[in-house]
Amino acid sequence: MANYYQPEIECASEEQRKAMQDERLASQVKHVYENVEYYRKLMDEKGVKPEDVQTTADLYKLPFISKADLREAYPYGLLATPIEECVEIHSTSGTTGKRVVAFYTKEDVDLWHECCARAIVAAGGTKEDICQIAYGYGLFTGGAGLDGGSHKLGCLTLPMSSGNTERQIQFMQDLKSTILCCTPSYAAYIGETLRDMGLTPDDISLKAGIFGAEPWTEEMRKDIEKNLGIKAYDIYGLTESSGPGVAFECSAQKGMHINEDHFIAEIINPETGEVLSDGEKGELVFTSLTKKAFPLLRYRTRDICVLNREKCSCGRTFVRMTKPMGRSDDMMIIRGVNVFPSQIETVLLEQGYPPHYRIEVDRVNNSDTLDVYVELSSNMFSDTVKDIAKKEKDLAGAIKTMLGISPKVHLVPAKTIERSEGKAVRVVDKRKLHD
Ligand code: ADP
Ligand code: ZN
Repeated sequence: MANYYQPEIECASEEQRKAMQDERLASQVKHVYENVEYYRKLMDEKGVKPEDVQTTADLYKLPFISKADLREAYPYGLLATPIEECVEIHSTSGTTGKRVVAFYTKEDVDLWHECCARAIVAAGGTKEDICQIAYGYGLFTGGAGLDGGSHKLGCLTLPMSSGNTERQIQFMQDLKSTILCCTPSYAAYIGETLRDMGLTPDDISLKAGIFGAEPWTEEMRKDIEKNLGIKAYDIYGLTESSGPGVAFECSAQKGMHINEDHFIAEIINPETGEVLSDGEKGELVFTSLTKKAFPLLRYRTRDICVLNREKCSCGRTFVRMTKPMGRSDDMMIIRGVNVFPSQIETVLLEQGYPPHYRIEVDRVNNSDTLDVYVELSSNMFSDTVKDIAKKEKDLAGAIKTMLGISPKVHLVPAKTIERSEGKAVRVVDKRKLHD
């Protein structure tokens, strides 16, 4: 028997959903046009007025917005309400300098938490459950989102945050947590630690896990399910559209249902911007229908996936998205942190290294590794081994300051990194996260 948090919405008919989306879209476009100068200019440039967008069929008329716009408008340029009405901010992981900062009114937070509560219910959660939240708390959206969802539902919430793995397991045993929420790589690590402590899934009471914020494979899912004795559910989201809970998996586990009362999803050709039909693979674009403080219209996520409108056996009528199958930009998620190769390149050049480098990412024992191979410039060639070890350490420190995570730096002799005659292949990702 399927359970829903808000059945009248999650199982609405197509007509009901469309009517709700049309009405919300028209008023949201008006709200944004009147309150966000940055987006008003984009609309004016395209010659589109709020009254031109009355239904979802008019969506294509609106301009796209991207991460570059968010950086340019940082920090307040896309805020659509007075700052006094905001009660919370979150920010994307990883980048120093111009981060992306998202704002929330009290109502925005409420609706976001509702989306997360739907995900917990879809994973079999009820108010009887004990939710252990081992996503990071703080600027990252994972902890706050699932914590709020768990409260909404009335679960006993364990606000563990990530880290201190043996203590996580101790709490699981003592308080009999039934649902674990964290990144899939952390779930895998908890599974390993459980075994290392000489325990088995029978020693804990977990039944389900809600894992997201980074790509993970079906193999990893099976591994986690076996090691923790649970059923593992996927959850998707991004800071720009509140955080986790934009889409969530149901018991059918054939894609994640997008909360369409709050977000309209489109798939576009990332090269041309052309809107593609359901079933075609392309870049996911979200229009936020209900957020008041930070309402992004046609936001390009850069995540590549496919939408599926076929009826789902769980009874929910919300469209389903596949797991992201890749990205249309070069962003990697390493140990939960968003990393762009250009950030590493910036540090190399700042530190006086030549722009010849290779980045290797791998996953060893369920933990991501980051190796950066950099050529010494010719005037550094005569350095002693000791000098080189120090240089590697300094460079690793500078990269850590930029990214927030530590790489292993390998300085190699000049002219040993393969040159390219076309697009340089600077990144080798051995994790095979996308099928
Ligand atoms: P968060 O803080 O929620 O991780 P970010 O904005 O830092 O949000 O990162 C969002 C990106 O993380 C998404 O655009 C997507 O690439 C990735 N992501 C989030 N959830 C998943 C998931 N379940 N599977 C694969 N990738 C995901
Ligand atoms: Zn379903």
